[in-house]
Amino acid sequence: MRRNSGKKYVCTADLNSAPSFVYTQLEHTQKGIKNMLKVKNYQFWFCTGSQDLYGDECLSHVAAHSKEIVEKLNASGNLPYEVVWKPTLITNELIRKTMNEANMDDNCAGIITWMHTFSPAKSWILGLQELRKPLLHLHTQYNREIPYDTIDMDFMNENQAAHGDREYGHIFSRLHMERKVVMGYWEDKETQERIGDWMRTAVGVIESSHVRVMRVADNMRNVAVTEGDKVEAQIKFGWEVDAYPVNEVADAVAQVGQGDVNALVEEYYDKYQILLEGRDEAEFRKHVAVQAQIELGFERFLEANNYQAIVTHFGDLGSLQQLPGLAMQRLMEKGYGFGAEGDWKTAAMVRVMKIMTQGKKDAKGTSFMEDYTYNLVPGKEGILEAHMLEVCPTIADGPISIKCQPLSMGDREDPTRLVFTAKEGPAVATSLVDLGDRFRLIINSVDCKKTEKPMPKLPVATAFWTPQPDLRTGAEAWILAGGAHHTAFSYDLTPEQMGDWAEEMGIEAVYIDKDTKIRDFKNELRWNEAAYRK
Ligand code: MN
Repeated sequence: MRRNSGKKYVCTADLNSAPSFVYTQLEHTQKGIKNMLKVKNYQFWFCTGSQDLYGDECLSHVAAHSKEIVEKLNASGNLPYEVVWKPTLITNELIRKTMNEANMDDNCAGIITWMHTFSPAKSWILGLQELRKPLLHLHTQYNREIPYDTIDMDFMNENQAAHGDREYGHIFSRLHMERKVVMGYWEDKETQERIGDWMRTAVGVIESSHVRVMRVADNMRNVAVTEGDKVEAQIKFGWEVDAYPVNEVADAVAQVGQGDVNALVEEYYDKYQILLEGRDEAEFRKHVAVQAQIELGFERFLEANNYQAIVTHFGDLGSLQQLPGLAMQRLMEKGYGFGAEGDWKTAAMVRVMKIMTQGKKDAKGTSFMEDYTYNLVPGKEGILEAHMLEVCPTIADGPISIKCQPLSMGDREDPTRLVFTAKEGPAVATSLVDLGDRFRLIINSVDCKKTEKPMPKLPVATAFWTPQPDLRTGAEAWILAGGAHHTAFSYDLTPEQMGDWAEEMGIEAVYIDKDTKIRDFKNELRWNEAAYRK
């Protein structure tokens, strides 16, 4: 049973090698930011099931139909990755061989299957048992409409996905295997977009085993929810979480030359508004330069040691002059995961979610976030979201400014940070918690808004959202589920995508959304205690 068998998803040829999302020195986004989310050209195999009961002519139609579907899916512009047509699968041997070829193919991130006619599902058992890639069961049909005037028994036999897909679906249920089922007409935009959403989830599943987290401090003292079992996380998600003495990274920062620092400071001054707020211009610039040196030093260390996510802690800064603020914001913008105060789970989740949204048209952003303070005025309820400093600028709406302000915690010089407010619109806030015997992913649909008034004295980037179904129910459910104050947050992923990711990882997921009722939610948590017990 996949759920209990631990992580199965590996790109076989990629084992112990560099991540598939290769950082490229020459890669630049439109904003001039080096992008470490350069996506691998993943492909998804389109496998059509049938058998030889109805003769060669029928099989030639099956192949022609599935080829046409693949061509039109690729031409639709609604899929983020290419679909590759595979010859019709009609025997145990061919199915088993194809599934194992998919396992070995480095570029294959998943399989899309469709039973055009009738494919006896015993033929699939061995192949499916050996498959180690995410699988989508596309339940569709070549023709949209029943051809009332001409339909005969030959047509019925040839176009019987309603029959064949049920036989096929049964064997997954019998095998207790996770798979995604999407039903809909293949030419419909909605069906294509659901396939596209699942492709992003599948890439998140495959790429999860390439996430390596660099942790430069342990967990913040006395804090519970950011802790967790790193061995179990590697078993379940494939994440490697390694600690380094902070001064080893601080040395890399100190080695960054002044010329490089000055060039990056120029870039900052070019790109962001400078809010001196009465500070001396030269002194302000020196404070900015410290963050530029941290950005470059951390980035070089991460590249040299092959890490894609970072964890810092304001209480453990070694010889760093400032808490990495602006520097971490910039690294998040480049595609690194980030978690504060030792929170490696959220850092890895931010990285996975950034991978899942890679290349998305009109993306609105993905960030580390923290629940801070409430507005409880009736009709205007919501949570003000921020962090001490580290909020990703991809979620910014409008101009971004640099401020230099004292920190209320820690003992370093005033750190510079990027300040902005976040975009409006629906989004998803997730929290991965370790319950001791298992991981749980809490997925909350939230509605992001502008605060009623500006907050001129608040020197950090902020978002403001109302959790669904309303603040009271959403917050009560979140707390009952054991959700953290830290979240991995995105405008560009759906709760369904995050839940599908959790399902493929074999962990519990709970949704808090417009349908949540506390009484039912408590029962769900109670029943999950039994369902997910090891
Ligand atoms: Mn925090």
